[in-house]
Amino acid sequence: MTETRERTDVAIIGGGPVGLFAIFECGMLGMRAHVFDALDTVGGQCAALYPEKPIYDIPAYPRIEAAELIDRLAEQALPFSPRYHLGSQVERIEREAEGWLLTNAAGACVAAKAVIVAAGVGAFGPNRPPLAGIEAFEGKSVHYYVKRREDFRDKRVVIAGGGDSAVDWALSLADCAKQVMVVHRRPKFRAAPESAARLEALAAQGAIDLVIPFQLAALEGEGSSLSAVLVDSLKGERRRLEADMLLPFFGLSMNLGPIAEWGLDLERSHIRVAPASCATSVPGIFAIGDIATYPGKLKLILSGFAEAALAAHAARPLVFPGEALHFEYSTTSGVPRLS
Ligand SMILES: Cc1cc2nc3c(=O)[nH]c(=O)nc-3n(C[C@H](O)[C@H](O)[C@H](O)COP(=O)(O)OP(=O)(O)OC[C@H]3O[C@@H](n4cnc5c(N)ncnc54)[C@H](O)[C@@H]3O)c2cc1C
Repeated sequence: MTETRERTDVAIIGGGPVGLFAIFECGMLGMRAHVFDALDTVGGQCAALYPEKPIYDIPAYPRIEAAELIDRLAEQALPFSPRYHLGSQVERIEREAEGWLLTNAAGACVAAKAVIVAAGVGAFGPNRPPLAGIEAFEGKSVHYYVKRREDFRDKRVVIAGGGDSAVDWALSLADCAKQVMVVHRRPKFRAAPESAARLEALAAQGAIDLVIPFQLAALEGEGSSLSAVLVDSLKGERRRLEADMLLPFFGLSMNLGPIAEWGLDLERSHIRVAPASCATSVPGIFAIGDIATYPGKLKLILSGFAEAALAAHAARPLVFPGEALHFEYSTTSGVPRLS
């Protein structure tokens, strides 16, 4: 483990859409930021869970793919020269005379005058089906997220699950994969009714195979290459589905991870904040985006953007004590560059 120690104005924990916009909001107020993320890329849920899905409720973008939104947010943050510490979770936050000292699992140490927690649902991970040897196939033949639809072109794909992700990806891959088989324990899907109806229509046309009521039982293959998925019916009947890829969509497990140990006031795995400032119960630590909660909170990217502005303004007096803020619109100030 290497140990480095750097200084910054604001440490942002989480490089999802909201953490990225916080770099911009801090930068516009003259504050430098270091950003930490457990994932090895920025973008949070947008990048990891649905990069190719269009988002329709970002102001001024009638439609934008999640990956493009992240690219644009990263570009907007660029003039402020953020320093990214990726691929390692922040484990400790300790009080120091002038602020906080953050340490991640890779040993990077950053001293900051204020901390903004934009950690989404915490360290998130997929719920794995309990199948012997599944780890060997993960990343090559077993995927919990679709990063690129093209990776499934002309493949035989088994999708397991009955919620929105299973149904949406079955619909999306139907005209790209060689074969799509949907394994679900119940005849009814818990997806948007319109999507479930489209799934059944495609199944009736023979474009999708519904394997119902069955559940995953075992995997067959060589090394990391899958050759078949074995499924059992609730009555004990076994079927062998020849397949190249398995997409198990059994939801995400949400785990606050080390954040739960930082002495912040929590409410059902979320950080309670004052809505006007996004201040947490610990002075100098702010929380924004999906992880922050207050009465009336909407878990939307656009709410997170507004919270980033509130937190940056509330953090500024900690970075520049005693300096009054002369508020200016961006049309007046332009975008200052921080090197
Ligand atoms: C399928 C799907 C579709 C959606 N569609 C929409 C939509 O149309 N419109 C909309 O507004 N919202 C939508 N959302 C919700 C939206 O994605 C979230 O509101 C948004 O991602 C929240 O952003 P965030 O930056 O707060 O958190 P996240 O995107 O969750 O990012 C948080 C980041 O923090 C990191 N992290 C957590 N703990 C630590 C730690 N200890 N150390 C270091 N890093 C840490 C995580 O690795 C993660 O990258 C959708 C979500 C899903 C799953």
